[in-house]
Amino acid sequence: MDNATLIQRDLAAVWHPCTQMKDHEWLPLIPIRRGEGVWLEDFDGKRYLDAISSWWVNLFGHGNPRINAALRTQLDQLEQVFLAGFTHEPVIELSERLLRLAPPGLARCFYADNGSSAVEVALKMSYHAWHNQGAADKTKFITLSNSYHGETLGALAVGDVALYKETYQPLLMQAITVPSPDCYQREPGSSWAEHSARLFEPMKTTLARHAHEVCAVIVEPLVQCAGGMRMYDPVYLQLLRAACDDYGVHLIADEIAVGFGRTGTLFACEQAHVTPDYLCLAKGLTGGYLPLSVVLTRENIYQAFYDEYASQRAFLHSHSYTGNPLGCRAALATLDIFASDNILERNKTLAKAMARATEQFIDHPHVAEVRQTGMILAVEMVQDKATRTPYPWQDRRGLRVYQQALQQGVLLRPLGNVIYFMPPYVITADEIDLMVQAAATSIDHATLN
Ligand code: PMP
Repeated sequence: MDNATLIQRDLAAVWHPCTQMKDHEWLPLIPIRRGEGVWLEDFDGKRYLDAISSWWVNLFGHGNPRINAALRTQLDQLEQVFLAGFTHEPVIELSERLLRLAPPGLARCFYADNGSSAVEVALKMSYHAWHNQGAADKTKFITLSNSYHGETLGALAVGDVALYKETYQPLLMQAITVPSPDCYQREPGSSWAEHSARLFEPMKTTLARHAHEVCAVIVEPLVQCAGGMRMYDPVYLQLLRAACDDYGVHLIADEIAVGFGRTGTLFACEQAHVTPDYLCLAKGLTGGYLPLSVVLTRENIYQAFYDEYASQRAFLHSHSYTGNPLGCRAALATLDIFASDNILERNKTLAKAMARATEQFIDHPHVAEVRQTGMILAVEMVQDKATRTPYPWQDRRGLRVYQQALQQGVLLRPLGNVIYFMPPYVITADEIDLMVQAAATSIDHATLN
């Protein structure tokens, strides 16, 4: 089997996600035969360094021997059982361990099978908890501009990336959107902390005005990933936690992309020393192996549903694969690696290597900013450095970077004009250099004219 044959068969039968399929008349699909560590290999034997961890899911490399072994053992015991009225060891052990690792005060785990569904669970659970407590007026959600929480209608409604949302606007509930603390927007001379704290003012005003009708505020802690890896200071989360408490509004932390060490700590909320009312996790939860997600919440919220059946207070939400045993086993193997290999400490060295390797972009005539939070590093390409005028989206400069980097054996997938690195944690210093050099020549090429 070779690339060409598979591409032909694929394009006759498959409809790909997040893709204008007509692009594939000139943009080759890449059929992948195998993966090992940070490398993906196609059917013609060409290798690609997976600098984006396959959409931010992979933590410890493709074909990780320890996760593979855990899955093989689990496969021989139990592949799936539904979780209503039944249970299994992996889901119990995973829940216990997540609750031990998560910020203090989270006491219950509710599972789903992808990130968007976890967000749906958190939104419904927040509304329903208030409803069960007699606060029937609370029906709305506050979100940040430029946020992203998934593609299902509820998750899309609380997101704010026009590219994904605009078309579906008539189908969506109306969220209350307040300006993001995004530090790319800060005044020259202003620190991340100053800017983020100042941008809390509109959130405070909005909470003061709307708290009576608001169930929850939903945020991506520290990094708005799909919105172009825009970053902000932990102080914003501290202020937000305090204000949510003051105004009687839940806080939903969507750590689907930033959880599991991406920002430098196991969970991003730790950097602000806050505990959300709902912590949404997916992606890296299984080390990037299987679709699984979970919402961690507090005991008082669990108790708001706990009653006689006839009271009709139960949370009757389910997905067929809720808490799938294989997914839970992959997640346990992933947590084992965090524990035994001192990953968060080792990532500090990798993050420094990424910072060093990308210093060269700071003075690039078409780079407005190089920013980093832990193992996420982003380079903002612009048409005009002085005025920070972006390239028109129609130019598809990011796509040019993607194509150029692929030729050099590196998989980058820019978000518009933002090139970013979010590699698996098993990347080596040499591989970081290779990844960044490919980005450098690709950015030069994409900004030539
Ligand atoms: N929330 C955030 C912050 C995300 O980055 C994503 C996925 N990119 C989602 C939710 C949705 O997760 P999924 O793609 O698994 O539905």
